[in-house]
Amino acid sequence: MRRSRARHIQPLLRETTLSKDDLVAPLFVDETISAPRPIDAMPGQFRYPVNDIAGVTAGLWKKGIRAVLIFGIPKTKDPGGSQAYHPEGVVQQAVRRIKTETPAMVVITDVCACEYTDHGHCGIIGETRNGPDLLNDPSLEVMDRIAVSHAKSGADIVAPSCMLDGVVGSIRAALDGEGLGEVLIMAYSTKFASALYGPFREAADSGFSFGDRSTYQVHPGNSREAILESHLDRDEGADMLMVKPAGFYLDILAEVASLGLPVAAYQVSGEYSMIKCASGHGWLKEKETVLESLTCIKRAGADLIITYFAADVAGWIDEKP
Ligand SMILES: [Zn+2]
Repeated sequence: MRRSRARHIQPLLRETTLSKDDLVAPLFVDETISAPRPIDAMPGQFRYPVNDIAGVTAGLWKKGIRAVLIFGIPKTKDPGGSQAYHPEGVVQQAVRRIKTETPAMVVITDVCACEYTDHGHCGIIGETRNGPDLLNDPSLEVMDRIAVSHAKSGADIVAPSCMLDGVVGSIRAALDGEGLGEVLIMAYSTKFASALYGPFREAADSGFSFGDRSTYQVHPGNSREAILESHLDRDEGADMLMVKPAGFYLDILAEVASLGLPVAAYQVSGEYSMIKCASGHGWLKEKETVLESLTCIKRAGADLIITYFAADVAGWIDEKP
């Protein structure tokens, strides 16, 4: 085996190589600020004001990043998350600005209500047999309105992240009904109830006032249920699937990649912050660790990787001789 690992032979035989086209940069747009605000739990990441977002995205485009995923933080919140589908909502404004400045940038929008509801859950809350919880079918209508509104603002891909039953089929019908048949759906098809989302809650101001999300996200120990979720979204008309988080779930990613649709993997805030924190202390080498983590996510089957390291990685890819 060592003949094949001679330094000049190795690159010829490498099976998995990261490319800028694999990367999606998540961005937080905050309607309540007028200057970029650092996210303490995610060193190097910021919330951006609406006025800055087109410039930030144009900068990513120059580095070779071709896709962004937009999250919004609204001025006001209410029980129904109405700012999420307002035509002048924060994401809608951001998408229009990005598409005006950099029309070829692929704009993906997070479709959910948890940043917009005062209780912090992903849709409409009501009484169930087991106490107050997220109601499935009443929340679907909210997701349809958000998706249509993002699409009308210019989003290329809408990405429902709520894990409601039937959300992909419901959004597909809503988009088609509005003449938005060209807009793709990236389903957060297999999303685990993970502790790794902790830093994101600060980033997107989406902590919840009671309970948790374990009644709509998959338990980390459940493999069959996780795969079934992606099957269902494929059958409802998703254009691409997703596994989230990425690094702890490579076995699931490999299986979802065999379902026949393109697959995105979301390297989430906790994965980012772990590497940032350890490398900040000098305990890990940041560049090597990031490139290894993303290469392994791609090796497991990801066609796209959503990562907060996207801009850094683009720079590192350019450095290569
Ligand atoms: Zn949500």
